[in-house]
Amino acid sequence: MPRIVAKKDGTCRTCGGRVRKGEYADFQADKGLAHPEPACAQGAARHRPNIRAGTCTCGTHVPPGKGHLRLVEDKGPGLGKRWAVDCARCAGL
Ligand SMILES: [Zn+2]
Ligand SMILES: [Zn+2]
Repeated sequence: MPRIVAKKDGTCRTCGGRVRKGEYADFQADKGLAHPEPACAQGAARHRPNIRAGTCTCGTHVPPGKGHLRLVEDKGPGLGKRWAVDCARCAGL
């Protein structure tokens, strides 16, 4: 598992706790930061924070901190991965 030194404060994807700048952290591009302890680094990612407002594929506006983020890969030249936001109803929350 890739281990990094956090360059800024973040949120553990598993326990939702804080990962502070300068601490070791586990980082996976598709899941985000986690504490390096196995319980967090290998746990299920549940706390990927939604820091920006977005629009669900159903058209519902999702405010920051709500909904559920989902990694999608854009197909085509110059396009990479991005986060899509699902509203609580579509995400089954
Ligand atoms: Zn954690
Ligand atoms: Zn929706």
